[in-house]
Amino acid sequence: MSQDSRTRAADDTKPLVLAVSKLMPLYLGPLTERYQLLDRLHETDPAAFAAAAPRIRAVAASGESKLPAELVGRLPALEIVAVMGVGYDGIDVPACKARGAMVTHTPDVLNDDVADLALGLMLSAARQLPAADRYVRAGEWAAKGPMPLARKMSGARCGIVGMGRIGKAIAHRAQAFGMSIAYTARSAKADLPFRFFPSAEALAAESDFLVIITPGGAGTKHMIDAKVLRALGKKGILVNVARGSVVDEAALIEALEQGVIGGAGLDVFENEPNVPERLRALPHVVMVPHIGSATTSTRQAMADLALANLEAHFAGRPLKTPVPECR
Ligand code: NAP
Repeated sequence: MSQDSRTRAADDTKPLVLAVSKLMPLYLGPLTERYQLLDRLHETDPAAFAAAAPRIRAVAASGESKLPAELVGRLPALEIVAVMGVGYDGIDVPACKARGAMVTHTPDVLNDDVADLALGLMLSAARQLPAADRYVRAGEWAAKGPMPLARKMSGARCGIVGMGRIGKAIAHRAQAFGMSIAYTARSAKADLPFRFFPSAEALAAESDFLVIITPGGAGTKHMIDAKVLRALGKKGILVNVARGSVVDEAALIEALEQGVIGGAGLDVFENEPNVPERLRALPHVVMVPHIGSATTSTRQAMADLALANLEAHFAGRPLKTPVPECR
């Protein structure tokens, strides 16, 4: 047997895994070593995909990947979907379950980073840090004198939409700024000392900063609409580190253009990576390109956990972090 066919024979014993979207090297590298990895074959070579599909046992995905029911339907041998990310709104979980496949994600390991970024966006929007940086670079300080005064963050009212793992990490940090904390979620949390509001609109009316950190998907689509923005008011600052779909972006642009709210800090957008020109033109919006969990150590921890779920599955051990619907 040639070296080549020996390698191929060894590879054939490895489970076939489909990467449904472009994955980070931190995840893709080990996947390629440990499995027979088909990188986006369904998009690049439909005929080869059709031939391989009946043997695909796992899907590897990121938090932004799409795995619709139609694609699940073409994977009769699917056993597990391992998402490197905590959000899995792009994965059709009921379709996976109907197939008998489990879905896993990577909760908790990214709480610190996303919460840090939320506080960073709050400060950046309130104190106009990017505009201040541009002011110095452009020589305007010397030419025009001091910048206009900004908003104070310490001691302000922080409203958090979604009081889960990351919401709590945001609350903890906001407390260190002397902020009062209130929140909305599907249910009130008896173990938390924060005031609960039954709706985002009621919460917004009592908040200076409204921070969004719910899952995306149908249940939260456009939860932050024109009414919520009106309730937040002309001094209010909206921060979204959840999913673009949670905020009605057209209503947000309108509210920002017309001074209905005071400003915004955005990590996520409705049609990433495309950000509407009208939004990009607004000076009182701070925007970053979906970097909530984007630090080296956190992305490594996320990749390790996604891989550990796959490894546990193929070794017949309990999964580390299945999504709630699969527990
Ligand atoms: P989690 O622990 O599941 O918390 C989600 C919170 O949202 C819970 O408090 C939940 O309420 C609330 N919620 C869910 N549906 C709701 C609805 N329809 N109305 C009001 N509240 C609702 O999740 P997590 O780990 O904190 O992550 C939250 C989300 O952040 C993820 O799903 C992901 O989309 C996003 N995220 C973004 C980034 C980024 O890069 N920007 C990174 C990581 C995560 P209950 O507690 O009452 O169930």
